[in-house]
Amino acid sequence: MTLSTDQFDGRLVLPAEADFEEAVLGRVFNGRRPGRRPDAVLLAANEQDVAAGVRLANEQGWTVAVRSGGHAWAAWSVRDGGLLIDLGALTTISYDEATEIVSAGPATKGGDQLSPFLEERGRFFNGGHCPSVGIGGFLLQGGQGWNQRGWGWAAESVVAVDVVTGEGELVRADADQNSDLYWAARGAGPSFPGIVVRFHIRTRPKFGFLGHTVHAYEVEDFVEVMTWLYRAHHEISTNVEIVAVCTPTPLPSGETRRVFLVTGVAFEDDHESARAALAPFNECPVIDRAIFVMDCAESSLAEHRAQQELQNPEHAQYICDNLWVDGENTPEGIAAMIEGIRPLFTTNPTEKGFAIWMSNAPMRRELPDMAFSMQTEAYVASYTVYDDPADYQRNRDWLNEVMAHAQPVTAGQYLGDSDFTNRQLKFMADDNYRRLQQIIAERDPDGRFARYLAKDPATLNKNHWEL
Ligand SMILES: Cc1cc2nc3c(=O)[nH]c(=O)nc-3n(C[C@H](O)[C@H](O)[C@H](O)COP(=O)(O)OP(=O)(O)OC[C@H]3O[C@@H](n4cnc5c(N)ncnc54)[C@H](O)[C@@H]3O)c2cc1C
Repeated sequence: MTLSTDQFDGRLVLPAEADFEEAVLGRVFNGRRPGRRPDAVLLAANEQDVAAGVRLANEQGWTVAVRSGGHAWAAWSVRDGGLLIDLGALTTISYDEATEIVSAGPATKGGDQLSPFLEERGRFFNGGHCPSVGIGGFLLQGGQGWNQRGWGWAAESVVAVDVVTGEGELVRADADQNSDLYWAARGAGPSFPGIVVRFHIRTRPKFGFLGHTVHAYEVEDFVEVMTWLYRAHHEISTNVEIVAVCTPTPLPSGETRRVFLVTGVAFEDDHESARAALAPFNECPVIDRAIFVMDCAESSLAEHRAQQELQNPEHAQYICDNLWVDGENTPEGIAAMIEGIRPLFTTNPTEKGFAIWMSNAPMRRELPDMAFSMQTEAYVASYTVYDDPADYQRNRDWLNEVMAHAQPVTAGQYLGDSDFTNRQLKFMADDNYRRLQQIIAERDPDGRFARYLAKDPATLNKNHWEL
């Protein structure tokens, strides 16, 4: 088969074409761009194009990399050589009232597109926080969505996926058919042995009232506030998402500067129940030192989406890293966990950089049987955000240093904010990782689909300091 765009409804873009760079990088969220380049980019118009693209790759001996929303911080979709299949046009959404299942293309933006579509129908799905994240990469790696501590990982709501296999065939994968692919699609992340062209997702009724509590503290109060939060978060209603974040914030005084925010978002039926759910925040022993307190203000998802966009400007340069914080819930254990993560919150060298701590407690639920299998009671991620590429090394060195400081309280990490070309950590239970490798070997024996982009593929899923 010759390399011609005629066989596609979309377009095959080759390196000699003027817009090749745009096709490779234009939809990558992170302004920090990789030097890697594929042999060709297929701007797929539909599922048939995706299947034809895989068949073309088979004939050419190309590996296949995939892009849905382009939000992988480490630009996993951009690989050296092979074919990049860009699924950007696959964004159709449909909803079945009888089953309450929504079906959506992988490039659908969880917050900008899927959430408003569902809200109009009185439904909700706990998708990602940043509105422009594609559901493709997000769901494949587990999906840390709204109020994950109460409702579970977003991938737990996936009931089926439509997949283009290594042979270029379109199949349905769910609990009854192709169940190996269904299992892998909930956690494999960027090593899924196929291309998901449609997700079928169980929805939930939309909450009646969104209550928002924010306490702003000086960064110097980090240890005291976190010590209280670490004790309190197990007891707070599981209808409340609890996030603490060190970030530049506009203050009532008119100035904008870095402060430590403790936030609760209550997904409740009405204002009264939201107020009750958020009441424990007012028991913080240093609340009298707060720069400001917003107590259960009425809020909306649209407001939160706008806030996320402000915090994560598209095409700024980002380096980020993350950890599942682990330790004993004794006073000494809590002190060690807080000391481990403290520098990562309090010493960010970039003006717009930030760090988040997200509660996952109490972890009463067992995870379903799926590839995703690693979590602890608290998740921490740190982001440097800058504009001048010359700042790269300084920011990288800082992040590596604070992550090394956190090592004694690190159980592993979440794929979503990871970059294995810099640092490899455990992200899946050992049995699950083994099973995933078996599925990959059976489904993709020739290595057609790109796998984890890693510094050392032989030592994946291990904390580098434990090797
Ligand atoms: C600003 C911002 C905010 C974020 N917030 C959150 C958050 O709140 N919660 C959270 O969990 N994560 C969050 N993330 C991380 C994000 O979920 C991951 O980066 C995710 O991979 C993005 O999905 P994508 O489709 O947009 O990315 P892409 O870069 O398009 O995809 C990433 C990789 O996933 C694989 N992949 C994607 N789609 C498919 C498919 N259809 N079939 C097969 N393989 C596929 C490919 O290997 C691809 O290279 C955030 C990221 C950013 C940039």
